[in-house]
Amino acid sequence: MIQLHGIASARGIAVGPVYQFQQVNLVVERKSCPASDLELIRFDEAVQAALNQIEAVFTKAKNDLAEEQAAIFEAHRMMLQDPELIESVKKTIREQSVNAEFAVKQATEHYALMLEGMDNEYFKARAMDVRDIAQRLLRLLLGVAAADTSSLSTPSIIIASDLSPSDTILFDKHLVLGFCTVEGSETSHTAILARGLGIPAVAGCTSEILKISTGTQVILDGTQGILILDAAETVKNEYIARKSTLLQRLQNAKSRCHAAALTLDGEAVEVVANIGNLAGAQDAVENGAEGVGLLRTEFLYMERETLPSEEEQFQAYSRILEVFGDKPVVLRTSDIGGDKELPYLNLQKEMNPFLGVRGLRLALHQPAQLLYPQLRAVLRAGKGHDLRVMFPMVASLSEIRQARQALVDCRSQLLAEGQIVADHLQVGIMIEVPSAAIMADRLAPEVDFFSIGTNDLTQYTLAADRTNPQLAYLTSAFSPAVLRLIQNVILQAHHSGKWVGLCGELAGEPLALPLLLGLHLDEFSMNPPAIPLAKEILRGLHRSDCEKLVEEALKFESAEEVKNLVRERMPGVAA
Ligand code: PEP
Ligand code: MG
Repeated sequence: MIQLHGIASARGIAVGPVYQFQQVNLVVERKSCPASDLELIRFDEAVQAALNQIEAVFTKAKNDLAEEQAAIFEAHRMMLQDPELIESVKKTIREQSVNAEFAVKQATEHYALMLEGMDNEYFKARAMDVRDIAQRLLRLLLGVAAADTSSLSTPSIIIASDLSPSDTILFDKHLVLGFCTVEGSETSHTAILARGLGIPAVAGCTSEILKISTGTQVILDGTQGILILDAAETVKNEYIARKSTLLQRLQNAKSRCHAAALTLDGEAVEVVANIGNLAGAQDAVENGAEGVGLLRTEFLYMERETLPSEEEQFQAYSRILEVFGDKPVVLRTSDIGGDKELPYLNLQKEMNPFLGVRGLRLALHQPAQLLYPQLRAVLRAGKGHDLRVMFPMVASLSEIRQARQALVDCRSQLLAEGQIVADHLQVGIMIEVPSAAIMADRLAPEVDFFSIGTNDLTQYTLAADRTNPQLAYLTSAFSPAVLRLIQNVILQAHHSGKWVGLCGELAGEPLALPLLLGLHLDEFSMNPPAIPLAKEILRGLHRSDCEKLVEEALKFESAEEVKNLVRERMPGVAA
């Protein structure tokens, strides 16, 4: 048996034959074309045809996916209409008297390389979208047909060097058992689409996978990030059984997702959602969320050229709050910087953006542009709802005091202006910087709640970039070092009578649920699709068993040992 490891990009198991998918290799030559007008017309026609094609892809995406994921193709359409990109191609055609193909290749590659060169995983991943558009334009100009996604005729695991978002969506989803690629990351659009389609995916695999012949039987484990070759019949059957149990379990869980998560001791556990926009809010409600533990507000700032106004923010927050009525919604103030860069802010280039001016630090550096308009919008939108505000990337007590003061100032300003504001807002902080976790006893009296951000807390505790696939073995929130910090945070918060949530990816991990229950976490916040299963698992747990489990887990040295312990002690959880 051969196991090839990659990045677990979309959960689930697939067992079946491989289908090797190859992009058409387009050869673009530079040709001298003194008749620029003709080339400009050819280019305009290709853009128009590409826009029509994208419209068709967008329509298919809207049928197969949530609005949020389908919007990727809306972004393609916008990129293709970007005046700067269009002008840069036309300028090359005119000034260099070259063919449209060459000009397209040059301009789009320049754009893609610029995105790839950014210290930011989000923009790096967007380079793939630019190349997707470029391929489309070039195929139209060269008169070459696209690699045929429709030639897939039997259910298969698609293996490719890389998959563009368009390829990913154009496959017949009933015939795709899984995706496995050499390129890509957890944040690439292909991974996002695979998760949206509910298809397991592994990215970042060795190029050895490209040598596996079409038709070869393999096992793809998107939860662990493994592709297995030459598996014995017993292993294969084990995976097939796991897959069907998983499916059955998911269906049962979904049918009960609107009921409370009562543990075997009869305690109700609060299960809420992480969302990033209005579509996420609807998704959360459909999956049984009891509120929102993390509303990421970056969506308001992305893919635009200026900051959102207070009014725009007020409207957007109000629409989301409407969906939840009087259920709690924790809104996190902007967490820009690190992997979430905004070109229009012209932020100073930093050697280590993850250790730089991000989150609350940036908001406090630019209060008039960032913090004040957002807090004013929050205070206005909160009236009549259970809206809570939370600050990201807090590393010290003084930051909390400054942020709270800003909130007080905004409230006074609004009242003086005669505006209607929320009477009381709970104020909390993310615990995602080790200093905050260590100093939890001093920070707790200053806030109403904590929400632990294990994604960042793990990368900062282990000094391992969360977006670097080579360090995936280190960046596990199951690491006993992280679990010990979580334990301290919860103990200290409870000592001060404050509640604690967890909104990092860990809260949605089935294996983590008994540990977090045993640690007395108050609120579990996760991506909406993870909610039904999490509730179902919590319903099968006794707090006292979980406490014993934690005691043992905290004695271990590695994340793997901790996970194995949960698998062993609570086989039902991991199934
Ligand atoms: C976290 O760091 O765990 C978190 C929830 O925040 P984000 O993933 O948005 O950085
Ligand atoms: Mg974070």
